[in-house]
Amino acid sequence: MREFWQSFAALAGVVCAFAAVGVVAQPGQNDPFAAQRTAMVEEQIRGRGIEEPRLLNALRTVPRHEFVPDSLRDDAYGDEPVQIGSGQTVSQPYLVALMADLLELDGDEKLLEIGTGSGYTTAVLARLARRVYSIEIIDDLAERAQGVLDDLGYGNVEVRVGDGYRGWPEEAPFDGILVAAAPAEVPPPLIEQLKVNGILVAPVGGPLQDLVVIRKTPEGLERRQVDVVRFVPMVGRAQEDPEGENPNFP
Ligand code: SAH
Repeated sequence: MREFWQSFAALAGVVCAFAAVGVVAQPGQNDPFAAQRTAMVEEQIRGRGIEEPRLLNALRTVPRHEFVPDSLRDDAYGDEPVQIGSGQTVSQPYLVALMADLLELDGDEKLLEIGTGSGYTTAVLARLARRVYSIEIIDDLAERAQGVLDDLGYGNVEVRVGDGYRGWPEEAPFDGILVAAAPAEVPPPLIEQLKVNGILVAPVGGPLQDLVVIRKTPEGLERRQVDVVRFVPMVGRAQEDPEGENPNFP
């Protein structure tokens, strides 16, 4: 009997070890990056005037270091973009915060994101909205991002590989759209897939871009420019039909 309990205890230990591996560093008291994350929010986000409590809470919670390559974890909370492979970067924390803030989220939204990249912005949005659909054109990045999001338990997120120019018609319309790669002009399908009263945030133009906010009202589109930013260009059809003028483009 004693042997049975010993092997039972050993087995339970193994099961626990597996369970512990399955839960990837949800931030807690033992998170070695917790202090850096708190400092990031205070200095880079609150310090620049973003006050929305749900957003600040999301940024205090999402483990940004999980979304960057292992060798760059120590740089994850700096005030700048970080390389994520395939020649791409995860945006500077302040830009992620600013774009999420501009979407004016209250928790019940269905969102579309173009340019999943590392999945970090997707995770922040997933904490602020009901559901997030995200499109990434580089399959390695999409796969890695979906893996990290799954490991961290973000069940309200779907990532797919594709050209975000066309949006995600099967899931449209969206309450908000965040575009994280810069087209010369906002792709018309994205405007079409925005709900009335929905908000789209996108960098437009290049190589430095205007950060543009478009609100769809019953009367038409309201457009304003809030900042000058630098994102990677939107590749794919956005570069082949840059002004979005040819509705018959294949
Ligand atoms: N917000 C991301 C970073 C985005 S970087 C993060 O939190 O990590 C911009 C991403 O847009 C890159 O990964 C790039 O591959 C992707 N991209 C560029 N053009 C695209 C297109 N047409 N459709 C979808 N994704 C695109």
